[in-house]
Amino acid sequence: MRYSQYLLPTLRETPGDADVVSQQLMMRAGMIRKVAAGIYDYLPLGLRAIRRMETIVREEMNRAGAIEVLMPMVVPAELWEETGRWQQYGRELLRLKDRKETDFCLGPTHEEVITELVRGTVRSYRQLPLNLYQIQSKFRDEIRPRFGLMRGREFIMKDAYSFDLDQAGVDAAYDRMYQAYRRIFARCGLNFRAVEADTGNIGGSSSHEFMVLAESGEDAIASCSHCEYAANVEKAECRPQPVVCCDDAPPLEQVATPGRKAIGEVAEFLGVPASATAKALVLITDGGEAVMALLRGDHELNPIKLKNVLGCAELEMATDEQIEKLTGAPVGYLGPVGAQIRVVADLAIQSGGPWITGANVSDAHLRNSVLGRDFTVERFADIRNVEAGDPCPRCAAGRIEMWRGIEVGHVFKLGTKYSAAMRATVLDDQGQERTLVMGCYGIGIGRTVAAAIEQNHDDKGIVWPMPLAPFQVLITLVNPKDETVRGAGEQLYLELQQRGVEVLLDDRDERPGSKFADADLLGMPLRVTVGSKALAEGAFELQERRSGARSLLPLAEAADRIAAQVRAALATGIEEGGDGR
Ligand code: ATP
Ligand code: MG
Repeated sequence: MRYSQYLLPTLRETPGDADVVSQQLMMRAGMIRKVAAGIYDYLPLGLRAIRRMETIVREEMNRAGAIEVLMPMVVPAELWEETGRWQQYGRELLRLKDRKETDFCLGPTHEEVITELVRGTVRSYRQLPLNLYQIQSKFRDEIRPRFGLMRGREFIMKDAYSFDLDQAGVDAAYDRMYQAYRRIFARCGLNFRAVEADTGNIGGSSSHEFMVLAESGEDAIASCSHCEYAANVEKAECRPQPVVCCDDAPPLEQVATPGRKAIGEVAEFLGVPASATAKALVLITDGGEAVMALLRGDHELNPIKLKNVLGCAELEMATDEQIEKLTGAPVGYLGPVGAQIRVVADLAIQSGGPWITGANVSDAHLRNSVLGRDFTVERFADIRNVEAGDPCPRCAAGRIEMWRGIEVGHVFKLGTKYSAAMRATVLDDQGQERTLVMGCYGIGIGRTVAAAIEQNHDDKGIVWPMPLAPFQVLITLVNPKDETVRGAGEQLYLELQQRGVEVLLDDRDERPGSKFADADLLGMPLRVTVGSKALAEGAFELQERRSGARSLLPLAEAADRIAAQVRAALATGIEEGGDGR
């Protein structure tokens, strides 16, 4: 491709509304352009990177035995009504009507559509196992679209769905996808980890997220310093500690804590660490029930764990008015002693005390609150977030370490949730009707490309890993008006293309300094500079974007040597499948 004929609008300045490096660089490198919040144009260079990612995904999905299909983006509501998700899905689902007033949605995920396809086409166990995938635009009306392609509203996803006769079948399908995902992200040259993820109300531990490690990541990951354990904080378990008995504690005593509402203020005022206090939070379930969550003062509630414990779909913090109405006390002075609503306590409440708690009276707290003596709890459960330094829930030796990550892929055993609701069955070898057991497997294509840039850039621009690079080589003609320079550059351009290398030829009539700045910004892995000085010595200058290392290539050998270097870089990660613990 000739730069002078291409659509590649680079920007010198960082756009004001770009919050993360990948978004800034993708906009500056002329890869994407915002059309509306979370909705982007993919410009030619951006589309090339997207297509590279798609090719890797396609190759590995096909290799793992999955078969490509393409489903519609506009989905009839009636399919979503069959599973109840038309009502449940909430506002991320963009609902619309056609001219006949029939309800449709823009597909945010395709379990219903694929289940309908399979129930209409698969009759016998002999047609199993089956794994179908597509690469397609999804729409989710995200509450906070941001970070460019990382959290868009319209975004490209690879979604795959497996269908099996039984649990053993879906276990095998899941393993194959898990391995395929490791290979995909390793081939992209990413530093990633597969972590255990929350499965919500579907249950089981059968979900992993693939996380690209990056400071800008929206997810927190907990991993063990000693063993293989790694989980999303949403899911990461806390290791239960021994139960402590406070039988000989002094009697309960009310103390004045005027104006001290926050745990830190109360603890400081009473001269104790925050870990000696117990805090009470009031939450309301989607069924309208109020629940008091009781946690050690220095711990953080994990709303997902609490939701799973309560078996509800939604959970919201009670408003100040609701709290006063339910407990009689203003926010900041709540406690379990005399509480009129059900109390669910974190396990750590059993392993400490006596506690300082709110007195359910304005401007007062209670000293020496003892579990069993002064207050009771309906249920104990692990409802807090793990923290750095906590003991590992799996091994005795390790401590929890915390990371930030970008979720690029997600594998999930669905069981029969969708197939049962939609009556997707096959006949087994006994002629018995059996409900299909499903798995689903997603990869965010654009998000992965953005994550690759988060991990691969410097202060001058993008540093593409070869497998995702829009072009593998950039040839810069220092002075395109010089016949010798142009002739030699064009010749190399042709020879590299003949060898299957993707090349961008910077033939623009611009200052060399500005072309070099663009070369750094665009970040193609190999850069060839064609200038009269090196040419006079019979050579091109080759520079590696990542290391900055320069070398002179004799004209006659240049094409072969560059092509070999590209091939070698593309092959990394294909065989070993990466670490990805
Ligand atoms: P998140 O928690 O980040 O919202 P999710 O759990 O909703 O992700 P899935 O439903 O598992 O995501 O979708 C599969 C994959 O699609 C994700 O792993 C991610 O890579 C990608 N993805 C999800 N939402 C978006 C989005 N708004 N923009 C870009 N990619 C997305
Ligand atoms: Mg989401």
